[in-house]
Amino acid sequence: ATPTSIMVGTGRGAELGVLFRKGEALQSLKGVEVVALDKTGTLTKGRPELTDLIVAPGFSDAEVLGLVAAVETRSEHPIAEAIVEAAKARGLGLAPVDGFDAVPGYGVSAGVQGRRIEVGADRYMQRLGYPVADFAAAAARLGDEGKSPLYAAVDGRLAAIIAVADPIKPSTPQAIAALHALGLKVAMITGDNRRTAEAIARQVGIDQVVAEVLPDGKVEVVKRLRDGGRQVAFVGDGINDAPALAEADVGLAIGTGTDIAIESADVVLMSGDLRGVANAIALSKATIRNIK
Ligand code: ADP
Ligand code: MG
Repeated sequence: ATPTSIMVGTGRGAELGVLFRKGEALQSLKGVEVVALDKTGTLTKGRPELTDLIVAPGFSDAEVLGLVAAVETRSEHPIAEAIVEAAKARGLGLAPVDGFDAVPGYGVSAGVQGRRIEVGADRYMQRLGYPVADFAAAAARLGDEGKSPLYAAVDGRLAAIIAVADPIKPSTPQAIAALHALGLKVAMITGDNRRTAEAIARQVGIDQVVAEVLPDGKVEVVKRLRDGGRQVAFVGDGINDAPALAEADVGLAIGTGTDIAIESADVVLMSGDLRGVANAIALSKATIRNIK
């Protein structure tokens, strides 16, 4: 493309809320065949809310929620915020915490009022040796509803299953349909559990789901999607999306996301509207066509 056509295309992108951080992106986007998207904060709002709390016999809702929320005051994960908010909404006082520990991609643990609390994903509980199979039916049902099930353990015993739901952005289904109209394959890459990811994928029309990916695993997934020489674009917002944004043929960051994601990306979707992905690709095709 000529410098003039790139300038015109870049200006047109700005009008559409699509910022090209690198001029080459406007050229390379036209060759993209697969668009992979992060789930939380990209396809969804990234503002989960607590929806379900199912406690084991011998525990009360208020007791478990109070203990878990106390631990979550120390975490910066969006799930933690949802749990703390829910406890506050119920007027629960949160006790001080000691020995807090976070295991990225797994969960968090701490001591509260002399009791040992662990909260996190299925794989975290399995790693700790707890019988998550006892809750399998409840977890499957919650996942099929598009909610993310978490587990809480108190003093070495599974005490509850907790679900949070993160609303899908209203523009997401349209954004996916626009990518399909351009003839592209659309994939989701997420750390969340498989059933939840598949339920969300069904709701928005995504073709392929790669779920239960550890925080540093998204890069490998992007490489795998590229097998056979396909050009892959990745769209994400989080700290753990930065390496995948850099690795992809074109990385697109959500403008409302973390600074590190934006700095690793070639393109920024200013308002976080995913329809910008298809707009950017269409613009790339039009720009390159014009100069032929
Ligand atoms: P994602 O946010 O995309 O699901 P993460 O890698 O941040 O990916 O987390 C993976 C999973 O680990 C979460 O879905 C959740 O089950 C669990 N987890 C992580 N941090 C916490 C936390 N603070 N409280 C409860 N569970 C957590
Ligand atoms: Mg995210």
